[in-house]
Amino acid sequence: MSERSFDGNNGRLAQLGNRVLAGGTIDRGEALWLFELESAADIFDLLAWANRIREHFKGNKIHLCSIVNAKAGACSENCSFCAQSSFHQTGSPRYGFVDPEPVQEAAEEANRHGVTALGLVAAWKGLKEGPMLDEVCERIQELSQGGKVRADASLGIMKSQAVADRLKQAGLECYGHNLESSKRFFPSHCTTHTYEDRIETIGYLKKAGLKICSGGIIGLGETREDRCDLALALREIGANVVPINILNPVKGTPFENNPPLQPMEILKTIACFRFVLPRQEIMIAGGRTMNLRDLQSMIFMAGASALMVGNYLTTLNQSVEKDLQMLKDLGLDPDWDKHDFEDQDTGTKPEPIEFRKRRVETVIA
Ligand code: SF4
Repeated sequence: MSERSFDGNNGRLAQLGNRVLAGGTIDRGEALWLFELESAADIFDLLAWANRIREHFKGNKIHLCSIVNAKAGACSENCSFCAQSSFHQTGSPRYGFVDPEPVQEAAEEANRHGVTALGLVAAWKGLKEGPMLDEVCERIQELSQGGKVRADASLGIMKSQAVADRLKQAGLECYGHNLESSKRFFPSHCTTHTYEDRIETIGYLKKAGLKICSGGIIGLGETREDRCDLALALREIGANVVPINILNPVKGTPFENNPPLQPMEILKTIACFRFVLPRQEIMIAGGRTMNLRDLQSMIFMAGASALMVGNYLTTLNQSVEKDLQMLKDLGLDPDWDKHDFEDQDTGTKPEPIEFRKRRVETVIA
């Protein structure tokens, strides 16, 4: 039998994969070529390389995050994919800023499941100085001092450095602020604020010393080139955690009839993100259960290293127990206790932790 040829697409994939494994980067043309791969054989080859890159930089660690809806519905913004926008009639729940008890309960539940971080998420345009910021800082302080989880938040746009500094002082470690899509595509799903507003906010967060959780949502009608440019922009801003959401169309939103992305297209997108962002936590968030169905567990082979568990803001997820069982079955370790993201700075591979050490064994049957 003749030796496998490394000419053609598999040769180029191997060349790019080896470069990333060696600490190098790929340029826009190379990234775009990956996003445009079509054949099943090429996509499987791409997934295998993405898996190798994840394994090399992240070991067998899977970073788990969860969220608590700190203020729901009636948002002033018109994001076309979002059930919480006041522009759309979706029947999504509406309530004011959350009391301490539900946040503490969510923190305890997250800790019981071995989840690293809990994010307070508010449906509003953003935060400015004033009594609301004081209340937000109280919740963050309680969360941080409780010591059960890493205190994260996603509270929208900010227009001054002082707001980011206050959040940092309150004990916030990581702030979620998605770019959502490419700069070019952004006005196709939101016109009440701009892509530049989001970049400006990320600048304040970084200056305050906060870690950045920033990604986007796919399936809005964007092109592969848009997805590629989103990944490159996230590399440029220095995101630490990169959530990839997949549209779960909600009735009453302008995107309610968007055709679903094919599962292999989603897996390919995750793999391309891993090539562009080899050291980042690539987290699969909203829409995974509905869009990937039986292929959900393949996200890790495609290069994902983090998972949003528990319910999302407006849609349901599969149970945390089922997710933990999936990780155990794959030999992956969700007990990610490091809060400092040091492997992203140094490229060091975290030591594998045996399953016996995991808190989460108490909740897996
Ligand atoms: S995505 Fe955020 S900013 Fe946009 S409408 Fe929804 S809650 Fe508001």
